[in-house]
Amino acid sequence: MTPPRILAIANQKGGVGKTTTTINLGTALAAIGEKVLIIDLDPQGNASTGLGVEHARRRLTTYDVLRGEAELSDIAQETLVPGLTVAPSGVDLAAAEVELINAEGRHHRLRRAIERVSQNGTGPSYVLIDCPPSLGMLTVNAMAAADAVLIPLQCEFFALEGLAQILRTIGQVRQRLNPSLDLQGIVLTMYDRRNNLSREVENNVRDHMGEKVYRTAIPRNVRLSEAPSHGKPALLYDLKCSGSQAYVRLATEIIQRERAA
Ligand code: ADP
Ligand code: MG
Repeated sequence: MTPPRILAIANQKGGVGKTTTTINLGTALAAIGEKVLIIDLDPQGNASTGLGVEHARRRLTTYDVLRGEAELSDIAQETLVPGLTVAPSGVDLAAAEVELINAEGRHHRLRRAIERVSQNGTGPSYVLIDCPPSLGMLTVNAMAAADAVLIPLQCEFFALEGLAQILRTIGQVRQRLNPSLDLQGIVLTMYDRRNNLSREVENNVRDHMGEKVYRTAIPRNVRLSEAPSHGKPALLYDLKCSGSQAYVRLATEIIQRERAA
């Protein structure tokens, strides 16, 4: 039984497109026959909501998994997308950050849980972890579990500073917790080609990071922001819109890199 490929979608800044990228990449992977588990590691639970899992259905969450009181297989729920399940989160997950501060094996809680769900031959082929907007314990757990990190980056003034910070964290996790952690790539989000700043930041990021930046940039597209309120991935809500089409192209690039890895 081959272990799943595990990708952490991370950026310490909120509102940059982590959750949108996680949901739509997960949908694209499921559409080509992969068995995908999205782990919602943000107490805000936007990935869970965006995939149609209402709060009332979240009796057990990733919080219980990190505390060692439930398995991912206990909490994972079906979505509208065949082959795509989600392990939901809830507001109580915010407490985990503090509660685990001195706990044994605290950085590897998620890694161990993914190992257990992958043991019996019916596990996922891809695990996507939607991280919270910080570089604290939860994101470190995701990076300690992951094969690679995918960074959504919004083309705004402090983008490069923010990027340097998360790259440092990846370096630290590599040194201390997960030597084989890779950078899958950087995806420019909410991109507006008519905006000078967007283009300038794009040029800067491409100069610094070269091939690590996907060729596909995700445009600002209102359909992408409408889809979550319908509890659906944009790829189901409106496959033809420019945002969905960009995510399809991005998924192709990511799959090519994954196959090479
Ligand atoms: P994060 O998970 O990093 O906080 P989200 O994916 O939740 O970011 O995106 C923040 C907000 O912006 C959400 O309301 C989302 O629907 C919207 N959004 C994300 N990507 C786009 C886009 N390319 N165009 C328009 N709106 C977007
Ligand atoms: Mg989010």
